[in-house]
Formats: sequence, structure tokens, C-alpha cells
Amino acid sequence: MSARLKALRAKLAGRELDALLVSNLVNVRWLTGFTGSNAAAVVGTAAPRFVTDFRYLTQSAAQLDPVWEREIATDLLIRVVDGLPGGPLKLGFDDAHLTVKQHAQLEKLLADRDAELVPAGGVVEALRAVKDDAEIAKIRAAARVADEAFEEVVGGGIVGRTERDVALDLEVAMRRRGAEGASFPPIVAAGEHGALPHAVPRDVPIPAGTLVVIDWGAQLDGYASDCTRTVATGELDPRDRAIYATVLVAQQAALAAVRAGPTGRDVDAVARAIIDESGHAEHFGHGLGHGVGMEVHEGPRLSKQGKDPLAAGNIVTVEPGIYVPGAVGVRIEDLVAVTADGHEVLNSLPKTLRTVH
Ligand code: ZN
Ligand code: ZN
Repeated sequence: MSARLKALRAKLAGRELDALLVSNLVNVRWLTGFTGSNAAAVVGTAAPRFVTDFRYLTQSAAQLDPVWEREIATDLLIRVVDGLPGGPLKLGFDDAHLTVKQHAQLEKLLADRDAELVPAGGVVEALRAVKDDAEIAKIRAAARVADEAFEEVVGGGIVGRTERDVALDLEVAMRRRGAEGASFPPIVAAGEHGALPHAVPRDVPIPAGTLVVIDWGAQLDGYASDCTRTVATGELDPRDRAIYATVLVAQQAALAAVRAGPTGRDVDAVARAIIDESGHAEHFGHGLGHGVGMEVHEGPRLSKQGKDPLAAGNIVTVEPGIYVPGAVGVRIEDLVAVTADGHEVLNSLPKTLRTVH
């Protein structure tokens, strides 16, 4: 934990901040290991502080390294400000997460001090985007749980079952294997419903002879996984087979381009060129992928907006898709750890078109 603290302190020094108020609970957990539902941390030139409420007195003592000064308070922000060092102060806050109400309270509490509130959102998130080996191991374990659940549920047959029922079974199968839950509500979408990239499973039986998009992931030990497979439920028409083949070629080509160095935009362009070439340019309306960690959507982005070079330790998805409205959808998604000279795919399910009944 102290390596993370050290890295954050270096970032704050670079921004000439005296301290950063970390209020987002995921960031607090990444920094301190605390898993409760109410806490804030203050990191800066002084000793690192952690504030929670009475309910977490015992839990925080067990979870936090002694380097943290632990404080218990009814109102976290009052306690945070009371404990700030005297003198002029530049205090960073997470403008992407702090509420307008909390910001107003902070301003009021600091009103009679020589203090400046500085928006500093994304500082912790940027550090979180590069995972250490322990984190990669946790995400690999989450991916394994998700793979096993898929084998059990989808491998057991889905034709005639409702999309909702299959989605629910995936969640249960992941939880039975130790997951805290699904990392997001699973998507199970058959036929033309699969043309909605974020389809909500319906109470509709899955027919034979179509494609079914299944996008699911596990949340295990605080870390998420994310994977998509599109399966056939019998003989397909040539159009559907062709679309699947195109997405698979695009996915494999983009995957081969994942390594430290290229930007998210570069890798996105590899898949996009293949899909554009096939005549489906307007049917691939989302980015190629996203970072995954404690949250299922985090940095870096693999899309036209992805300007940062990929770095070793990034965990990203590679998930091109083709969505033909009113007809069919196909997406194939792998979860990948970026390494200095390539990548490691963290999930293990095959991608050749699979037929399940
Ligand atoms: Zn997904
Ligand atoms: Zn994804």
C-alpha cells in the first residue's frame, strides 16, 4: 500500500498541491485497502489521514496499514478540515466525484483560512490505470470465475430459456464460485435484440438458429472482469456467419496490436479499418475497448479519443462489434493485460463460432 501512497505523493508534488482529499470510495479502497461504505483520505506533505465513522472503527483498524492516521467522525468533511495543517494551503479535490453540496460545505469550512480548493480529478485514477502484479492476478481470477460460469450456464444449453433467466444464472454461477457479484448486469441478447450494444435481457425465450450476444463479468476480491462471446443457437444464415467472421478478424487483428507504446486510438483504428472495409462502418458505433480494474469501466480508453499510449500494466478490453439495427448484432470481447512487448489474454474461452443448443 505504501508504494501507492508514494506514487500519489509524487503526483501531488508535481501539481504543487499541499494535499489531496480523496473522497471517492473506490479510490479510497485502492489507496488504503478499506472496503467500508463511508470514508475519506487526505494525502499530502503531512502524515496520511483516513477518516471514517464509528461503524468502521474495528474494520478500519484491521484493514489499514499503521502508516495511516485513523480518525473517527460523524461528519467526515468537518473532521477532514479540522485536521488540516495550518498556514496557506492548496487542497486538491476530486471534481469528478465530490458533490456540489459537499463542495459548498468544504468552501464554507475553509472560509476563514488561507486555503485554495483545486480541482484535481483523475489523479488517483491515472495511477489506478497501471496495475501491479497482485492486481493483475486478481483480475485474472475474476476472469476465470466468469469463464467457468459461462461454461456451466451457456454450455448447458440456452435455446428455449429466456434471456433474463440465462443472465440470472450467470450471476448466480459467478457468486457460487466466490464472486461478490456480477461486475455489471449481464447482457444476453438474441437475434435482432443483439443489435443493441447495451441490450437489457428480456423475458423472451431464445430461439434456435440465431446469434446470441452474451456480455458478462465477475466482481471478485474488489476487481472486475469483462468478456463477451457471441454464440450460435443452430444453423445460421450466410449474412450472420459473414458478420461473425468479420468481427472475429477485426478482434484478432486489434488484439495483435495491443502492447505498450501505441495509443488507444491506434489500436481502435486497426479493428475499425477492417469493419469499415467490410461495409459495416456505420454499424460499429462504440470504441474498441476500455480499461478494467476495481471498476469495470476505467482508463485507458481504446477509441478515437484514446490519445494516451498504452503502458505495461494497463488492463483493457478489445471488443469490436457489428450491430445491424433490426437484424443482428455480434461482439467479441477479450480482457487483456498490456505488457512491455505484447499482451496476455486473461480470459480463456475460444472465439471460433460456437453452437450451443
Ligand atoms: Zn463487456
Ligand atoms: Zn467491455
